[in-house]
Amino acid sequence: MNLENVTRQKQNKKILLALFLLIALCVLALMYVQARQIKRVDVESFKLGTLVRISAWGGSETQVASLIDGALQEVDRLEKLFSANIPDSEVSEINKNAGVLPVRVSGETYELASRSLYWARQTNGAFDPTIGPVVALWGIGTNHAKVPADEEIEKAISLLGYEKLRFSSGMEDDYALFLTQKGQRLDFGAIAKGQVADFAADALKRGGVRSALIDLGGNIVVFGEAPRGKMWKLGIQHPGKPRGEYFGVIAVADESVVTSGRYERFFESGGVRYHHIFDPATGRPSQSDLSSVTIVDKRSADADALSTALFVMGLRKAAEFLKQNPEINAILVSDEGEKSCVYITQNLAPRFSLSNKTMRFEVLE
Ligand code: FAD
Ligand code: MG
Repeated sequence: MNLENVTRQKQNKKILLALFLLIALCVLALMYVQARQIKRVDVESFKLGTLVRISAWGGSETQVASLIDGALQEVDRLEKLFSANIPDSEVSEINKNAGVLPVRVSGETYELASRSLYWARQTNGAFDPTIGPVVALWGIGTNHAKVPADEEIEKAISLLGYEKLRFSSGMEDDYALFLTQKGQRLDFGAIAKGQVADFAADALKRGGVRSALIDLGGNIVVFGEAPRGKMWKLGIQHPGKPRGEYFGVIAVADESVVTSGRYERFFESGGVRYHHIFDPATGRPSQSDLSSVTIVDKRSADADALSTALFVMGLRKAAEFLKQNPEINAILVSDEGEKSCVYITQNLAPRFSLSNKTMRFEVLE
């Protein structure tokens, strides 16, 4: 073999090696792009008497779909514990045994009741989980909604009182709850959607979902990065406009956004609109001068309880409460028709942008 042939063979080998490396690089790049490709999975389902929507990213499409399915099963499991509408739920058992016997409950129901008692005390009873007799009497959201007689309302009020709820816990997950007065009824309608949303988010995170938006009929939880950019931009429903019309946008990350408003559930009688958020002091729909309250919080259960409580308090008391509790992030909308004002806590103001320019805007002191 002459020198020329040896040199050519060496060159060929080099070219082959370079080609091989190039192909290997292309395969690796393709694998990397596929791994990075984030498939978004959206699922809608009717639960908790409302529309539940979950959108999640991270992992393969089938993996994420199965994790969402798991989170929805978690929602079903908790609904069977917390619902006052399901006859054999733990809450219904507590209600049936009011004034008779303590009822053994799961850790989840015990935790929900404890959190409820905490917020009932903090808000001086504006949020009251024993509101059940008033809710049942008015029947708002059912086909037997009615304006009750004054005596019926008085009787229902006499059954309210979160201090009449007794807690006992022993060793080894031994929990019991007892409503001490016959006729009392727990109703977690103002907090349980939040608690369920928190549990659903935990289930997705445990499964390895990187980013998700969970919407339980307006109780929203987001975690991970948003589809475009790091922060999630969530529109806040205008209380006086059709669903989907927003008055502003809030940027959030790993947080929950919950709104309570008089526009959600109501019925009309004699030209008067009766909504579903009750003032425990009067046993009637709250005469709040607010038309909606939005809370942004790490925990959806807390945001849920607070949004209802601050709505019942009304503007003056809610503003006072927020002054005393500066860690709470809130957006209050006053009920002044076209001249509605948006009040926002200082800590939230830099993250909010008002899109409805006819509304006034004020940062709370
Ligand atoms: P929020 O302001 O968060 O809560 C208002 C609700 O809380 C009222 O409807 C009432 O139940 C209660 N409440 C009113 N005033 C007070 C107060 N001052 N303090 C404390 N609580 C108060 N809806 C159905 O139509 N059918 C169902 O089968 C059904 N099942 C449900 C099961 C569960 C576990 C939960 C959590 C909700 C269920 N719902 C059902 C929905 C529920 O009835 C309410 O519509 C919903 O929870 C109200 O949420 P919101 O965000 O509109 O208002
Ligand atoms: Mg609430």
